[in-house]
Amino acid sequence: MSLPETVEMIRSLVAEPSVSSPDPRHDQSNRAVVDRLAEWAEHLGFRAEVVPLATDPSKANLIATLGDGEGGLVLSGHTDTVPTEAAGWATDPWELTERDEGTLYGLGSADMKGFFGAALTAAARFAAGDLKAPLTIVGTADEESSMDGARQLLAEGRPRAAMVVVGEPTGLVPVRMHKGILMHRVEVEGRSGHSSNPALGANAIDGMMQVIGALQAFRAELGERREDAFEVPGATLNLGRIEGGDSPNRICGQCALTYDVRVLPGMAPAQLRADLEARVRAALDPRLRVTLEELVESVPPFAIDEEAEAVALLRELTGRDPRAVMFCTEAPFFQELGAQTVICGPGSIDVAHQPDEHVTRGQLQEAVDIYAQTIHAVCVEGRGPR
Ligand SMILES: [Zn+2]
Repeated sequence: MSLPETVEMIRSLVAEPSVSSPDPRHDQSNRAVVDRLAEWAEHLGFRAEVVPLATDPSKANLIATLGDGEGGLVLSGHTDTVPTEAAGWATDPWELTERDEGTLYGLGSADMKGFFGAALTAAARFAAGDLKAPLTIVGTADEESSMDGARQLLAEGRPRAAMVVVGEPTGLVPVRMHKGILMHRVEVEGRSGHSSNPALGANAIDGMMQVIGALQAFRAELGERREDAFEVPGATLNLGRIEGGDSPNRICGQCALTYDVRVLPGMAPAQLRADLEARVRAALDPRLRVTLEELVESVPPFAIDEEAEAVALLRELTGRDPRAVMFCTEAPFFQELGAQTVICGPGSIDVAHQPDEHVTRGQLQEAVDIYAQTIHAVCVEGRGPR
């Protein structure tokens, strides 16, 4: 077999559904995609390892390595997609369809099955004997739901590399910063009773108003710090959903609220959660009880210095200035593994997570060239970070 052409690889990956979702009705295995990638990588001479997730063995990460030694480069993408409704699409979401000469439509075409087609095509230009430092292609599971694939890589302490490129769709602009995200559910428990005598109970809605007051005060303080590289320069806190009580003539016994917090680089999610919990407790009428839990595990914020070698290299190779984005990625997990990490991939995030997702042949071809130049610089010439 020879390696299929870039677009044919993407067509084949798009045709294999790999939805991940916290909702078990939508959640699927990513094994077909990972196994296909492993097969192509092995064909190119990579040692491919398919590692099932401890949290769900029907899913797996791929770690495929060409060459040996210390340092080197990782090109990483996630193999899952968000769920979709075929009804909203102009084309079949699982059949890569070309329209308007060069625009390829399909679920995951931009986010981010297109990346794997480009990365493998770039890798095919190198043989193990060319490389002074290893090249690794990583495919993670569950990025769109829990990020358990990346969390497992971090727990396993691999892959170790000098530089990681996460190929999320950035229009091939090097991205060096994004916010982190926390999602919480806070529940206030009081005591219900007849509304005619407030002394008979403890009203959880009144209590929730105290909680909301504390959250709003916290938000105002968070907003004082700014990072002007972001479209929204401050941290944000959004009150998303509230429910509680049953009828107007009954003291409300229980009320729950969900919110999300988007934090700036430098704000640690665990510390922030502890601060929030302390504030909420302090604000609440002591006759009421409050619990605060994570709806999903937090994603840390990400930032790498503008002057770092990995950023400088991608600035040079793309001809584009690094910037910040408003979405979260697996980059902070690779950074925690010790690699200089930059996000740079084909396609636009604006078309991801919605019907008629697409990527252009032009972006894919440019990605192939940029990844090949990055591999050459880091793994052959020994440029970039050490
Ligand atoms: Zn993505």
